[in-house]
Formats: sequence, structure tokens, C-alpha cells
Amino acid sequence: MQGIAASPGIAIGKVYLFKKEILEIDFRPIEENQIHREIARFEEAKHKTREQLEAIQKKLADNMSDEEVDIFSAHLLMVSDPTLSYSVERYIMVNRLNAEAALEKSINEIWEMFQGLDDEYLKERATDIKDVGTSMLYNLAGKEMASLSRLDSEVIVVSPDLTPSDTARMDSDKVLGFVTDAGGRTSHTAIMARSLEIPAVVGVRNATYLLKGGETAIVDGSSGIVYFNPTDEQLDYYYLLKESYSHNKHMLQELRNLPAITTDGRRVEMVANIGVPKDVKVALKNGAEGIGLFRTEFLFMDRATFPSEDEQFKAYKMVVEQMAGRPVIFRTLDVGGDKNLGYMDFPRELNPFLGWRAIRIGLDRPDILKTQLRAILRTSHYGCLRIMYPMIISVEEIRKANWILNEAKDELRKNNIPFNNNIQVGIMVETPAAALIADRLIEEVDFFSIGTNDLTQYTLAVDRGNETIAHLYQPMHPAVLKLIKMVIDASHKAGKWTGICGELAGEETAAVVLLGMGLDEFSMSAGSIPIIKKQIRIVSYEDAKNIADRVLSMSSSNEIAEYLDSITKPF
Ligand code: PEP
Ligand code: MG
Repeated sequence: MQGIAASPGIAIGKVYLFKKEILEIDFRPIEENQIHREIARFEEAKHKTREQLEAIQKKLADNMSDEEVDIFSAHLLMVSDPTLSYSVERYIMVNRLNAEAALEKSINEIWEMFQGLDDEYLKERATDIKDVGTSMLYNLAGKEMASLSRLDSEVIVVSPDLTPSDTARMDSDKVLGFVTDAGGRTSHTAIMARSLEIPAVVGVRNATYLLKGGETAIVDGSSGIVYFNPTDEQLDYYYLLKESYSHNKHMLQELRNLPAITTDGRRVEMVANIGVPKDVKVALKNGAEGIGLFRTEFLFMDRATFPSEDEQFKAYKMVVEQMAGRPVIFRTLDVGGDKNLGYMDFPRELNPFLGWRAIRIGLDRPDILKTQLRAILRTSHYGCLRIMYPMIISVEEIRKANWILNEAKDELRKNNIPFNNNIQVGIMVETPAAALIADRLIEEVDFFSIGTNDLTQYTLAVDRGNETIAHLYQPMHPAVLKLIKMVIDASHKAGKWTGICGELAGEETAAVVLLGMGLDEFSMSAGSIPIIKKQIRIVSYEDAKNIADRVLSMSSSNEIAEYLDSITKPF
């Protein structure tokens, strides 16, 4: 099967089909003589849910934060809550409904009641009620709820799609590779796979229809091909390829501590993108000189409440301390679009990527942004960090965000909490609007980081996660390159600097062109750092500038691709 190459490397193993079934609730009237049986079924589901929660709690005990421990304890209490049992029993006895229907109605009523409360904390409990209710409904139906958190053996996960929360919850040591029906190169599954260095092919379209689970599969994440039930010859070939891939990777590791410097002495920064504190290890292993993009939103996902200021501070401190003085760029919360939080109300939108997302949420909900900024400021006392706002389109947005930042600083000062007062503040250039007024925006900030994943989708009007139009998603389109060049030039004119933290920074074919355009910092999935470093170390800046000029004069992505192909020397 041909899909989209999303994360390089070869994985060989058994298929684990991960499909989240939509549970159909059977509403059935019952006879009087069935009342006892239905109540007994409900009791049994309750018992089973309690056992499962206790087992998860035990398994995760060492890795859970205090808040998460509290959440599991609250879930356990909800299962045994007398209000719930009373309501379910009443529906069974008085309304003569079967246990599933009685449970679903009761859960919905309690959920609505919590939703209607004024208290934010209690309102957030509504999500917990739903979570617990869903587990109980699955147990009543005698069905297992799909999750990647408890895998018994090493597998290749095949799924219609994976949400950021599926991947955050997954047992990553057991996942050899990913294959998804949906998605493109910059979908979050792909980004996550690259940062975990797990081979992945996305956009395969019908893998989950054709497979049952348990088949042997080969995932070639470099070419985007997946083989199911391969022949012995194919297996032999791919075992060899896998070995040579690891060998190459090992060779490139030797560049780890060398700078990314051209043959004529232009040095650029090689930094990594991370999502959670544990990604720092992979970044350092690959020789990252800093973190160019810390996607802080992953700390906000797969949980039932917002992380508190202290909880954020603890996680952030862990990152800067591990980076030991190397700079870490914190991007403020970037949710909305395809990244929702279960515990936060998001409006129903026809175009979520053009909707309430990123800095727009931060400015509408300054309480959330300020809590995060306070946690980041407190962290600045323990290492080197920078702050960056996502998806900016105007000068006013930067000024408003900085106003909130100053408020956070004042509060810390009043409480004598130490922080670095000279933190660099930058923005992500992810919209054509920001690129076109880069000369005005640079006056408000210290640096730019171009988010080519979104910049490409907004410039070309091509949804970054839509596999049907994946062929139109071209970060090396002349329009995108022209905007990138404008942004770099505007920052240099003001004596400031520009990085790229979109996936384009880690594309082998783009490296020389971006270098030649004057890019100062390349931030990418850590696994790509050695190969991009290698590309930069074999050219001169003079040649790179000529190549970039030539590329910028071209009229189409095809022309650019053909030209770059013709000048690439194999090494
Ligand atoms: C981008 O848009 O290029 C970017 C780096 O942000 P994200 O992929 O998290 O949207
Ligand atoms: Mg983005």
C-alpha cells in the first residue's frame, strides 16, 4: 500500500488494529421479572470499571503527577457514587429501562447538571463523569475500550487516525511503527512519530478496512510504502535495509557535537522541536543546540483539568534544566484547529483552522495565558529561555500578549519571585498576513520563527491534514518560498534573526535553499538534525546563496524540485 512517508525508518512486526468503536446504546423496555437481572448487570459493570481504574492507577503510580492521582481517585469515587446508582436503579425499576439505557440517561443528566454550574472546577468535573460513564457503558456491553496505553507486546499500530491524546497516552516503547488511513506529512500523528523516532506512513486511506490485526507488516517510513503479509524475499530485503538504515544513522551520529557550519564559515543554529519533557533526551542525543519549539500544549492534553501554574512550572523547569543553559523557546498554548482539550468548551466551527485557536484563545482567555506566562517566567530563573506567540496576524495581538506578559511580571515582582527580566520574545510567522507585514511586526519583537506547516496551508489554501489534496501541499511552492524570504530579510534589516520550526526545516532537499536565503536557525524533529547538519557542512554559503536565488526565480514547485534533484550530489 502506498501512503505518505511521515517518519523515516523501517519497522517490521505484527499489526495491532486500533479502531475506536462508536458504542450504539440499545434502548430496550424490560419486563418486571427482568429488573433484578438488569440491576445485577449494572452492579457488575460498576465492579469491573472500579477494578480497571485501580489497575491503571497502580500501573501509572510512579509516573503520575499529584493532579493526575487526584483525577483517578475522583473517577473511582464517581463509579461508587450513590446518586448515580440511585438514578440508574430508578430508571430500571420505575421506567422499566434496560441497564444501558438507564446508565446513559443518568450519566447525561448528571453531566448536564455539572455543566450548568458556575464553579469552573466543578464544571470541569463534567468531563470526568462522561469518561467514567463511557467506561461503564463499554463494560456493560462486554466490549473493550480501545486504548494504546496497555499494549502487551511490540506492535505496528494501524488506525483510521490518531489524535494527539491517543499518542500522548500510548505506551511508546511497544509501538514499532504507525500506519494511518488519514493524515498528511504535517499532521500531528506524523510530527509525533518523528519526534519519537517511530517509522510511520500516513494517508494510506483503506488500511483499516483491509486488515484484521495480527498480520505481519513492513512499514517503510522513508518511501511511504507498507507491505502486509510480505513474502520471505521482501522480509529478507527489509531486514537488510533496516540494518543499513541503523548503520547510516549511527554514522551520522558522529556529527553530533560538530557545528552546522558551511565550508566558508557561515554558522547556523541546529535546534529541536519537542512536545513533552521526555523528548529532551532524544534532542540531546541528536546534538540539538537548543529547543527551537516547545509545543507546550501537549502538557494540557489527555487530562481532565488545566495544569496548574505549579504543575506547568515543574514540567518547564525539568526541560530547561536538562538543556543546561542551551536556549529553549516556549511557544504559548496553541490549541484549537485539530487540537482540542476535552475539559474546555470549544465552539462548533465550520473551519476550525481559521477559527478560535492559538493566540486568539490566549487573548480571549487572559487567565489561561497569564497562568502559563507566570510559570514560564518563574522557569526563566533556572535556565535560558525565550517566549513565542503562535499564529499572529497583527501588531495589536503582539501588544496585547506583551501587556499580559508585563502583568505577569508585575505580579511576580510584587511577590518577590525571581525571573529573568530580559527574556527574548518572538512570534511564529504562520500566516501570509504576518509574512507580508513582517517589517512592521519585527519592530515589536526580538525574533521570528516561521511555522511552515501552517504557513503552507494558509498560503496555498490546502488543509495540512487532508490526504485527498496532499499532493497540493507543497512547502517548496514559489509563493511560500517568497514569503519565507521576505520574513528573513525583514528581520535582518532590523538586526534581528529568523528561524524555521515547521517541518520544512528538517527536509533534506530544502536545507541548502533555506541556508542560502539567510535562515539563522533550523528547528526540527530531533532525528533529522544529523542529516541537515551534514547537508550544511558540505556546501559553501556562496553556493547556497546562488542556489537560493535561482530557486526564487522559478515559477513552479515542479521546476524547483527538478532543479534541486539535478544538483544533489549523493554522498
Ligand atoms: C507550524 O505551523 O509550522 C508549526 C511549527 O506549528 P504546529 O505544527 O504545531 O501547528
Ligand atoms: Mg502551527
